[in-house]
Amino acid sequence: MSIKITMLGTGAALLDPDRGHSSIAVTIGEKTYLLDCGTDASRQLVKANIDPTTVEAVFLSHLHFDHIADFPVFVIGNWMADRQTAPIVFGPQGTQEFVDHLFEEGAFAVDIKARLQYPQRQNNAIALRPDVRLMAPGLIYEDDSVRVIAGLVDHIPEEISNCFGLRLEAEGRVVAFSGDTAPCDTMLELARDADLLIHEATFPEAAIEFRSKAGIGTYSHTSPRQLGVLAKEAGVKSLVATHFGHWDSTNPIVRKLAAKHMPVAMMGPHLMDEVAADIREAYEGPLRLAHDQMTIHL
Ligand SMILES: [Zn+2]
Ligand SMILES: [Zn+2]
Repeated sequence: MSIKITMLGTGAALLDPDRGHSSIAVTIGEKTYLLDCGTDASRQLVKANIDPTTVEAVFLSHLHFDHIADFPVFVIGNWMADRQTAPIVFGPQGTQEFVDHLFEEGAFAVDIKARLQYPQRQNNAIALRPDVRLMAPGLIYEDDSVRVIAGLVDHIPEEISNCFGLRLEAEGRVVAFSGDTAPCDTMLELARDADLLIHEATFPEAAIEFRSKAGIGTYSHTSPRQLGVLAKEAGVKSLVATHFGHWDSTNPIVRKLAAKHMPVAMMGPHLMDEVAADIREAYEGPLRLAHDQMTIHL
């Protein structure tokens, strides 16, 4: 069976006309698995000609909004599209509370009550009741197409919540996904000898230097140079860098919004070349810089 990766959303947390929030579809034969469900993920699935009702399971790497905000759209959209099963969703601690606050007893209660007037919608109300499964390090999911292994990565302080990286094994091939993380040994092991590593590279080196000098926030992401070293050490066969922090945008509003992360004069598409060159300092294999709707066949 073929494995197709579709990069549905390749941006970070800001609003960007050219990049949706984090989401990746992994399609194995007739089945699709969703890694993160950031804003616009459902619409991008349809745009990629992937039927959302064929999604077997959703894996939320962590609970930052740019990785989860489309989840209610995904669930209600599936319900309206006649999905007949409860969507399976994996996530860190807090995922059950996130889901409990969304549907029949939550934020979309009025919408759901109104639509439940119709017998057709009552027939598949089960589609509104996600089957929530908390992630823990190790094997978390297995069916006849894929095995999914999770590992704790280093992003949000663990007293607030856990963050996970993932390793998918299917058809004798391996796809690893970082979620958001600083470089860590767990991600190195999840990515070991992977056919494809999909890894965040949120800021270019210039922005990281600026942020550290300006004292803006703590740094809990992976720099392009660090990513190159990790990809080389893990022995990955190909690499996709993603979760770009909008520094390549030429949109005036995005540039204004991103200006707290780095001076506007530093931003622009030329940084893509710098990011690629910095990854290449250590890693010599096939490299792609992600864009929305990029597809990769393994
Ligand atoms: Zn993020
Ligand atoms: Zn994050």
